[in-house]
Amino acid sequence: MTGSENRKAFLGVRFDCCRVYVRIYKNKAGTAYVGHCPRCARRVVIPIGAGGSSDRFFVVR
Ligand SMILES: [Zn+2]
Repeated sequence: MTGSENRKAFLGVRFDCCRVYVRIYKNKAGTAYVGHCPRCARRVVIPIGAGGSSDRFFVVR
């Protein structure tokens, strides 16, 4: 939990659709966290710096 470099390298996301928790990572441009549900492949994109992006945990419904 040390070092600010990696502090926002990933985000914890819970997919309510399949009740699974995964980590999603920044895209190459560093503009958003992008990932998908491991079970149903539902896609999620969470923009960085759009307000509220400082949260470390999201629930996708
Ligand atoms: Zn799902």
